[in-house]
Amino acid sequence: MAYTGRCACAAVTLEITGESVGTRQCWCRQCQTIAAGGPTHNAIFPAESVAIAGTLASSTWTAASGNTLTFHFCPSCGTQVYAQSSARPHLKTVRFGVLDQPHTLVPQVVIWTADAPHWAQINPALESWPQQPPAPPPA
Ligand SMILES: [Zn+2]
Ligand SMILES: [Zn+2]
Repeated sequence: MAYTGRCACAAVTLEITGESVGTRQCWCRQCQTIAAGGPTHNAIFPAESVAIAGTLASSTWTAASGNTLTFHFCPSCGTQVYAQSSARPHLKTVRFGVLDQPHTLVPQVVIWTADAPHWAQINPALESWPQQPPAPPPA
């Protein structure tokens, strides 16, 4: 098993058998709202490699791209577990926060820097995009 994880109250658990196809730090406004003002950190996995036990709630809206985004979270503790785009049903974007340590994932790409607050500390060594970059290629 490559990764395990859980929400803050452990009502939701994850087992991920595949390897991440990309990692991102996202400064979009929606992410700042759910992440208490900072960016989210996300690892993108093939959807079929992510097994989730427990009950999730979700919220859905239309992104700037016109795609439908769905954020899945634990209804008991509010922890964000993963996100899914209608344009990429074959991928699940798992929040770093639910992954058990230690793991080797680090942010590789910073996205939506145009929305970042002026005090944001963005690593200049990382590839960055002012908005949404192209999706990663299939694993
Ligand atoms: Zn929970
Ligand atoms: Zn975002």
